Amino acid sequence: MDQNDSSPETPDARKDSDLIAAARGAAVHSYAPYSRFKVGAALRFADGTIVTGTNVENASYGLTLCAETVAVGQAMAQGRRGGLVAVAVTASGADVVTPCGRCRQVLMELAGLGGTDPLIHCCGESEVRTARLSELLPAAFGPARLA
Ligand SMILES: [Zn+2]
Repeated sequence: MDQNDSSPETPDARKDSDLIAAARGAAVHSYAPYSRFKVGAALRFADGTIVTGTNVENASYGLTLCAETVAVGQAMAQGRRGGLVAVAVTASGADVVTPCGRCRQVLMELAGLGGTDPLIHCCGESEVRTARLSELLPAAFGPARLA
């Protein structure tokens, strides 16, 4: 996280305000009838394309999909392999939300294919904390480990 910036948003977050808005827009379509915790994720690729996802809960609970995982699946379904440069994650509630451990690994798979280390904008209602994926998932196991 950028601890040297006293504003609620880092310069990188201000630059990616459209990406954050896309994540907030995706959260509107959240399927979260059990937790009511609506999450949105948006991925930016090197060509400028934004791909979004939202959380999809399941009555069995354990089969619930996080917004970030849905977004990565959507991007993969479009044939994207790598080129991930930034991610925004938003959720209902005021607190800053960060990707869960599973989603960090899922994001690493897509980032690792292109050798990028995307910015991750973890958004709250009035605050954004930004970190590199490598900071959120140090010593990660990625595609390069199997090459
Ligand atoms: Zn997750």
